[in-house]
Amino acid sequence: MTVYLDHAATTPMRPEAVEAMLPYFSERFGNASGSHAVAREARKALDEARDIVADCLGASPGEIVFTGGGTEADNLAIAGRHAARPGAAVCTAVEHHAVLHACEALPDARIVPVRSDGVVDMDALAGVLDPSVSVVSVMLANNEVGTIQPLAEIAEVVRAAAPDAVLHTDAVQAFSWLDVVHAASPADLVAVSAHKFGGPKGVGALVVRNGITVEPIIRGGGQERDRRSGTYNVAGIVGMAAAMQATVAQRATTVERVAGLRDRLADGLLAAVPRSSETGRRVDKIAGNCHLCFEGVESEALLMLLDGAGVCAAAGSACQAGSVEPSHVLTAMGVPAGRAIGALRLSLGSTTTPADVDLALEVIPPAVERLRSAP
Ligand code: PLP
Repeated sequence: MTVYLDHAATTPMRPEAVEAMLPYFSERFGNASGSHAVAREARKALDEARDIVADCLGASPGEIVFTGGGTEADNLAIAGRHAARPGAAVCTAVEHHAVLHACEALPDARIVPVRSDGVVDMDALAGVLDPSVSVVSVMLANNEVGTIQPLAEIAEVVRAAAPDAVLHTDAVQAFSWLDVVHAASPADLVAVSAHKFGGPKGVGALVVRNGITVEPIIRGGGQERDRRSGTYNVAGIVGMAAAMQATVAQRATTVERVAGLRDRLADGLLAAVPRSSETGRRVDKIAGNCHLCFEGVESEALLMLLDGAGVCAAAGSACQAGSVEPSHVLTAMGVPAGRAIGALRLSLGSTTTPADVDLALEVIPPAVERLRSAP
């Protein structure tokens, strides 16, 4: 039996999405930018998908820019906004690298620290804002520790101190768990990625609210109202729309069910493993996130043992040339290195079952114990 607890990395595709996509690989293969009957069929599917995606994101169809995934959507938000109105780029220290590196590539990047619970430090945010700022990027939910940021409060601070700045939110990890229509409403730009909620990989979207301009980062045939060129990935976009619809329809029940499983998993591990701690505050987290640190073990070794026992999980640390570096997220939260190198991220999803949690609870404590007692 394989227990998949890495939904923050990617999710299995929803059957609705697979079924919706299939015809667009075969008989409905048209290029949606053409004008004949075969092209028109593809265009119709694209338009319908755009309506669904817009509805699920609380936007109008003209505000949706389809992209090749979350990374591209984040880059379009930051580099595209900066090109439209040059100025400083601000983001938090716990952003995904798609945001962090996109900001750092610009001439004036300002990185805002977070508190020990992973929530952005509001005073520090206010401190780096001024009228020269063109974009501020704060993720809705963190991919490693699951912390949800108070976007409405952040938007108020930004509007007051940097009136010409646009607010971008990376909602890639949030979409499965939060009512993004409401939660992302204070943002001008909103990025999502289909494969994080049961859609295909390599397709995503950026909401660009009316009145906000972004320069394209990919130029060519002028698709997406000249905001993103390239032949449409019709099958992928149709699959993303189907996955979004299913996610939204089941979100409330999934969140309640998965939060219960996550609580049982986290509480069970904290009780069974001495010198273990939970990262961040559970009340601030998305329902699928269980992030723990085990002192006296290294994540990579733990992941290998778990993999051998059928549990697929992840760590927040990158292993380079034999040395284990704590993740930038845990470092920003001030988690001591001795704890951070023993990080374990267990991310649950809509397909997670009570039996998955049972197996994880059976396998993880002895694996930690084995590593601690190894000579
Ligand atoms: N932003 C966050 C918060 C993510 O977790 C990820 C994926 O890991 C991305 C952006 C990148 O999305 P994609 O894999 O679609 O490029």
